[in-house]
Amino acid sequence: MSNHSLLARSLANVWHPCTQMKQHERLPLVPIARGQGLWLYDFEGRRYFDAISSWWVNLFGHANPRIGNAIRAQLDRLEHVMLAGFTHRPVIELSERLSAMTGGALGHAFYASDGASATEIALKMSAHYWRNSGHPEKSRFLCIEGSYHGETAGALSVTDIALFREAYAPLIKFSTTVPTPDARRGPTPQEAAARAADALHAIVAEEAAQIAAIIIEPLVQCANGMVMYDAEYLRRVRTICDRYKIHMIADEIAVGCGRSGHFFACEHADVLPDFLCLSKGISGGYLPLSLVLSSDEIFEAFYDDDTTRGFLHSHSYTGNPLACTAALATLDIFERDNVLERNRERATQLSEIAEPLRRHPRIEHFRQTGMIWAFDVKTEDPDFARKLFSSGLEHELLLRPIGRTVYWMPPYLFDGDDAAFLVQRTGDALEAVFAAE
Ligand SMILES: *Cc1c(COP(=O)(O)O)cnc(C)c1O
Repeated sequence: MSNHSLLARSLANVWHPCTQMKQHERLPLVPIARGQGLWLYDFEGRRYFDAISSWWVNLFGHANPRIGNAIRAQLDRLEHVMLAGFTHRPVIELSERLSAMTGGALGHAFYASDGASATEIALKMSAHYWRNSGHPEKSRFLCIEGSYHGETAGALSVTDIALFREAYAPLIKFSTTVPTPDARRGPTPQEAAARAADALHAIVAEEAAQIAAIIIEPLVQCANGMVMYDAEYLRRVRTICDRYKIHMIADEIAVGCGRSGHFFACEHADVLPDFLCLSKGISGGYLPLSLVLSSDEIFEAFYDDDTTRGFLHSHSYTGNPLACTAALATLDIFERDNVLERNRERATQLSEIAEPLRRHPRIEHFRQTGMIWAFDVKTEDPDFARKLFSSGLEHELLLRPIGRTVYWMPPYLFDGDDAAFLVQRTGDALEAVFAAE
């Protein structure tokens, strides 16, 4: 089968996500035949280093035998059963293990399939908690400037990226946006965090009576161009939330599962949110799975003889056994391979290798948090991201810049040679774009 015939068929009948389909008149789709480890292969033998973990989901490589075997074994036992009124071993074990990983503090796991659904669940649970607690007026949310929490209508209400939400403004109940702690605003990351926290404090002090929760992306606002900030902001958010009685929702869909360096990004500040959302990496990038962890206090506000005080939300595939099994296999790899410690070595090594790139005259704000690296390219070209994406493919790299921000979010299995390849080819791809200016 050739790449070419697949392209035409895909364009005829598949509506691709996050895409102006007409762009594919100029920018060909990339048909992928198979994946192995860090690599994706097309039908004609070309390969691409998956430097963004297939949009931040893949943690331990493509065709990972440990995750694959676990799913295959589960497939012969139980592929799915509804979770309303029924339960099964994978969902129980996963919930127990995640609870234990929060020291038992967030011991109630509610499941869905996509990140945006997890966001919606956390928002609905928070507002419903306040209603059940005699405060129905606490029904508004705060989100951070430049936030991204998914693209369903509820999730868009706390997503501050105009491109994604402008067309749907009439459908959306907008939330209050608070200033970003973006470290680039300086003068130091700590001061940028303190300034944003002061601004948050002022808003909350005024409006707390109507606010149910603030939703944040701990440490890195990924979709808005890998905006990184100091952990002090998380501590301040926790303190403000406690003082003014509003919930803290940590959307760790992108930064959870070791991406920040700790398993949960909130660990960097030694705080626990009231709700913690996970998706993307939790299933190792194998199957759609998302979940919201919450505390006993939240859970108990719903526990009642009255049905309407319960959380009556559901999705057909809630707690799917195959997806939960993939998540259990993923957690096994974290434990058995000492992944977080190995990642610290990987991070140090990749950062060292990237040192010359960091000093490139066209690159600024080179930054890193855990297993996320990003830098901004000095360019006026509005088409820069698309050009570097194409140039990346020509250099055997899957990069997907956001505006003029280039980032790496590789699976947790690269060695020194892989890191050298990634840095070298990113530099080559950039030079090719600069040379064509
Ligand atoms: C990707 C992402 C989401 C949405 O997840 P989907 O599975 O794409 O719906 C929400 N929040 C953050 C921080 C994300 O990175």
